[in-house]
Amino acid sequence: MSTSTHPVTPDTVRHPRTVESLIEGQATSDGAGVKLTRLVDQTLHQRLDPFLLLDAFKSDSPGDYIAGFPDHPHRGFETVTYLIAGRMRHRDNAGHEGLLQSGGVQWMTAGRGIVHSEMPEQEDGLLEGFQLWLNLPASDKMAAPWYRDIPSEDIPEFVTAEGVRVLVIAGTSHGVEGAVQRPLTEPLYLDLYLPAGSRYDQTLPPAAHSFLYVYRGQVKLGERIVPEGKLAILADTGETDGVVLSSKHGSRTLLIAGQPLREPIVQHGPFVMNTKEEIAQAVRDFNAGRFAPQS
Ligand code: FE
Repeated sequence: MSTSTHPVTPDTVRHPRTVESLIEGQATSDGAGVKLTRLVDQTLHQRLDPFLLLDAFKSDSPGDYIAGFPDHPHRGFETVTYLIAGRMRHRDNAGHEGLLQSGGVQWMTAGRGIVHSEMPEQEDGLLEGFQLWLNLPASDKMAAPWYRDIPSEDIPEFVTAEGVRVLVIAGTSHGVEGAVQRPLTEPLYLDLYLPAGSRYDQTLPPAAHSFLYVYRGQVKLGERIVPEGKLAILADTGETDGVVLSSKHGSRTLLIAGQPLREPIVQHGPFVMNTKEEIAQAVRDFNAGRFAPQS
């Protein structure tokens, strides 16, 4: 772990956001039959713009994950895979290959098109993690593909005076710059370990859309409990300046926020563009083999 050498500047939130709604998530499978829980889907595209999808997967039964995600395309957005436990091998048609291991993140910008596979590299044991899809602005949807593997030790982290451990995957928290920065959507992606009895303040820009997902224990926002396995959409109406979490018995929680793009969103499977015509073009390009890196 890389504890930041930068001074930590504690956030103080005066007008915290409240819980607007709790989302259960849908059990489903994707790829070649990987069991997962889909927490964010197309029904939340406008509400959680610029985020398009959040999947959670957790199983110690190889039958739930071993088939993995063989070769498949993407165009028009970014995928952020955060592995809590396990090993996943990534290969793409630009010749990149990487091994994502416990605590690591892979940030992949599909841009104009990539074909890749994401396969578990383990035959037993726990595989647990999350995949988030972050939209690209119209101006960047046809940009060159890009990706970065960020091992656990390269994810900046700090510990607050209350003992809350904060992993800053993207954005900036308490003055600590995360592993990835993005213009326009300015995503904030934090993994928060709240010890029992602790409180955590995180400032958020007023216009940012935000949500959290509790994957261990539970957290409290005001008087509202968010239990394990639930996604909470945070209200962003009125004068709010952030979010305040507390946890009686401890928790691990993802806190995710970003600036909405407010552009039309058209999704067809692994393609997310602005118009139906661009989707039709993506299908034609993929079928014609034009997702090759040199095209
Ligand atoms: Fe993929």
